[in-house]
Amino acid sequence: MKPFDHYSPKTLPEALDLLAQMNGRARVNAGGTDLMLKMKAGFLQPEAIINIKRLPELKGVTYDETAGLTMGALTTLRDLTRTAVIRDHYPVLAQAAGLMASEQIRSFATVGGNLCNASPSADLAPPLMVLGGTAVIAHQNGVRELSLDDFFLGPGQSALKPGELLKEIHLPPPTGQTVYLKQSPRAYMDIAVVGVAVRLHQVNGRCREARVVLGAVAPIPLRAREAEAVLEENLVDNGRIAQAAQIAADACTPIDDVRGSAWYRQRMVQVLTRRGLTALAAP
Ligand SMILES: Cc1cc2nc3c(=O)[nH]c(=O)nc-3n(C[C@H](O)[C@H](O)[C@H](O)COP(=O)(O)OP(=O)(O)OC[C@H]3O[C@@H](n4cnc5c(N)ncnc54)[C@H](O)[C@@H]3O)c2cc1C
Repeated sequence: MKPFDHYSPKTLPEALDLLAQMNGRARVNAGGTDLMLKMKAGFLQPEAIINIKRLPELKGVTYDETAGLTMGALTTLRDLTRTAVIRDHYPVLAQAAGLMASEQIRSFATVGGNLCNASPSADLAPPLMVLGGTAVIAHQNGVRELSLDDFFLGPGQSALKPGELLKEIHLPPPTGQTVYLKQSPRAYMDIAVVGVAVRLHQVNGRCREARVVLGAVAPIPLRAREAEAVLEENLVDNGRIAQAAQIAADACTPIDDVRGSAWYRQRMVQVLTRRGLTALAAP
């Protein structure tokens, strides 16, 4: 690993000043479970590391019935599995985090790191997107908000500009039911070959709102809008479910790699979307 400077600011303004001074030559370190591997492998060679773990402004989880949930970017995967308001109101996040890595990694790895790493297979991206998540991004002059639908630009590329930090994630109050289905060769300690998150909000047997987001099958976590449109304002019966699952599979553009062929991934999108919708549509 190339030598680098290390900074450990105590406040958000201090961290943002450092980031601005370094003008893209520094990387922030949250849990380090993605960053350190990339640095060791030589994929990233920043001149400096800015450790953000001590920033109080990036910590904590609050919930309000009207406002919804706000969680700091430093919320760990372990926090997702154990925090009562998350388990009670957004159980899909606890479920998805429980499928990730190991207990040890989950104690370090953060929600912010999972999103900012911008891997197409990031397990938290699909569930946070179907829940309608917004990224609150801090910079030297204040904050800006960006829907997670617009946060990912390509593999390893997020909408964060040099000098910006992900401060927190906001979720609106939950509506309907949500599930995340992950397909990977190993049951544990494996990244997704396909991940599908589905949310269905039904009123009097009809779908008021549907969200379908696909992971690991496109350069970015992909919202399957046409599949959602087939479901919304309709009865979610087997026919509609099959149609939506087919449309979702057609929407993705997976790659072939050692972990799964493009054909397999596309097929699994269809299977998992159908499975998720069937589970949620059941009366
Ligand atoms: C053994 C192992 C198993 C794993 N299993 C899974 C898995 O099943 N599913 C999965 O999705 N991932 C998995 N991962 C990847 C990783 O653990 C997660 O992506 C984790 O959530 C990353 O969080 P972190 O805090 O460690 O990020 P870091 O490594 O600290 O940061 C990742 C990137 O995001 C940037 N960053 C971090 N926080 C911020 C912020 N607040 N603002 C701006 N930029 C920021 C960093 O500069 C870096 O570029 C695994 C990793 C390992 C080593």
